[in-house]
Amino acid sequence: WSAETIAVVTGGNRGIGFEITHQLALHGLTVILTSREIAVGEESAKVLQEGGFKVVFHQLDVIDQQSINTFCSWIKENYGGIDILINNAGFNHNIGSENSVEFAEKVITINYIGTKNMIKAAIPLMKPNPAGARIVTVSSRLARLNGSKNRISDDALRQQLEDADSLSEELIDGTVNKFLKQVKDGSWTTGGWHQNNTDYSLSKLAANAYTRLVARELAGRPEGEKIYINCYCPGWVKTAMTGWAGQVTPEEGADTAIWLSLLPDMHISGKFFAERREIHF
Ligand code: NDP
Repeated sequence: WSAETIAVVTGGNRGIGFEITHQLALHGLTVILTSREIAVGEESAKVLQEGGFKVVFHQLDVIDQQSINTFCSWIKENYGGIDILINNAGFNHNIGSENSVEFAEKVITINYIGTKNMIKAAIPLMKPNPAGARIVTVSSRLARLNGSKNRISDDALRQQLEDADSLSEELIDGTVNKFLKQVKDGSWTTGGWHQNNTDYSLSKLAANAYTRLVARELAGRPEGEKIYINCYCPGWVKTAMTGWAGQVTPEEGADTAIWLSLLPDMHISGKFFAERREIHF
């Protein structure tokens, strides 16, 4: 990894994304700090540039396909591609154990659809790298299929979502669409969804499932063209998203993303991590 290594961070203007940008830059990489708001993103990039880091700003709104396309053309033309993509951009309307689904569509569109579309657009741009290109998605333990509380009470659906070999985009899309339809017709409370941060945990559950699906699809790539894709939970982090009520700092929350991005002998793909350890989905 060197200044020739190109890392892209979505939602890099603040919170965990800003810290991931900072720490990747500390390792000497060229980091593209992206943000949907130009002025805000430029300001954040400036802070790091003034610290002497190789940080470059570009606009990127993960729920705007035109913005994704413009960004991808720009990165291809200026840097030839991407070595490391960090899908950090995310949104949660609820704080703590609140469970309003008023913004369910927005939550799922940003956290799942936006992440998915970003991964789809980035894969053709991932550079051949002897250590393997990397995609890391910032997810959440709240999305665990089989945590202390089941997020989905329909056993058959849960098992389908758990089985990496049979996962499909249709199944994942179908699951979130079923929830959104129930939100619209008011029946979601009896739909078998976990009653805590439901929209957010489902959005991250879908992003996790998509990670496993893509890992399966990428598994056959030849040596030298490998892409390793994983997701991780940063912990409960003191950022705007938690109303600064978390237990760990953004620096600590960024750590596993840096580890997954830079680990030299990384041959793991389609897994879920927290505090540098694999955890179950
Ligand atoms: P923040 O709310 O501080 O940051 C969220 C970031 O996502 C902002 O940069 C925001 O941009 C960006 N964003 C939102 N929508 C879009 C979009 N459409 N396109 C591009 N960027 C967008 O929260 P955190 O730093 O805490 O969250 C970062 C990630 O970590 C999220 O994915 C979150 O779900 C995840 N996470 C956080 C936890 C925590 O405890 N904080 C726990 C588990 C996971 P803008 O400034 O323009 O709004």
